[in-house]
Amino acid sequence: MTKSVREILFANSPQNQIATFLTTYPLYRKYKYKFDISKELESPDTLRLTCTRCGPRSVFDYKDKSVLQEIIHIHQPLPAVHHPSKTTREWWETLISIRYHCHVCKFDERFYAISIDRKNKAIWKVGQHPPYSIDISPLLESALGDDTLYYKNALVCMSQSYGLGACAYLRRVIENKMHDILVRLRDSLQAEHADSATLQKIDVALQSNVAADKAKIAAEVCPSYLRPGDTNPFRLFHNELSTGIHIEDEHECMDLATEISATLQHVIIAIAENSQRNDEYLAKLKKVQDRRSKRGKSEG
Ligand SMILES: [Zn+2]
Repeated sequence: MTKSVREILFANSPQNQIATFLTTYPLYRKYKYKFDISKELESPDTLRLTCTRCGPRSVFDYKDKSVLQEIIHIHQPLPAVHHPSKTTREWWETLISIRYHCHVCKFDERFYAISIDRKNKAIWKVGQHPPYSIDISPLLESALGDDTLYYKNALVCMSQSYGLGACAYLRRVIENKMHDILVRLRDSLQAEHADSATLQKIDVALQSNVAADKAKIAAEVCPSYLRPGDTNPFRLFHNELSTGIHIEDEHECMDLATEISATLQHVIIAIAENSQRNDEYLAKLKKVQDRRSKRGKSEG
């Protein structure tokens, strides 16, 4: 069975799950945990983040942690207003702060304020510094072109955990980009000598005006370099475009938006990098061949 991106992201230890939560979740988005949480949360020893001095994927070390506040939720049935002794302590949330700093420069810091709700087994960020970024890589921005604005609007919605809005923007991006993606996919398959039946299939889909048709064919011909862990990104796009997954709940929509935005990013960047690698390889080969033919002429 094909695994979703989300399943792969979270199919690991509690510490890794918390690391993913810390580095990718926006404010107020609840993460429902299924493991035991200590009083203060098992913080990962390190996080991979972008340091303003040392660059992307820098190692950040755990620095310190403190309990900011215990919030007690009192269960108080209406008649008990006049009988305070009948109130019961129903459950409590713990607000904690965690800090990390860059392993190399020790200068760049990350601060997270997290609420832990043990009754509902959920954690969420109530503060973060520096704030959740909507910056995207130049490669993704150039591939998205005019749709960069929609994509960033989706990220703005996600930064506030507005899943419904984020899904609507992302759906628009897939609709608009599906043709371009399929054209690039065709180029990459042709460069790898895909059989003519496959290329013909894509050519027929490219004639269609329906983005869902294009996603369906893309799912059928999807090459292995786009399918880490047996996922199929285009199946997700096809589902989204053809049926439009109707979910009312903001949190479920946030999960879907996270899956779609990560998948879009993966597909666009992987195709661009693949074609860049092929171009670089061909350019090197051409240089060698040119040198050989020059030598051949001068010797001949
Ligand atoms: Zn640094």
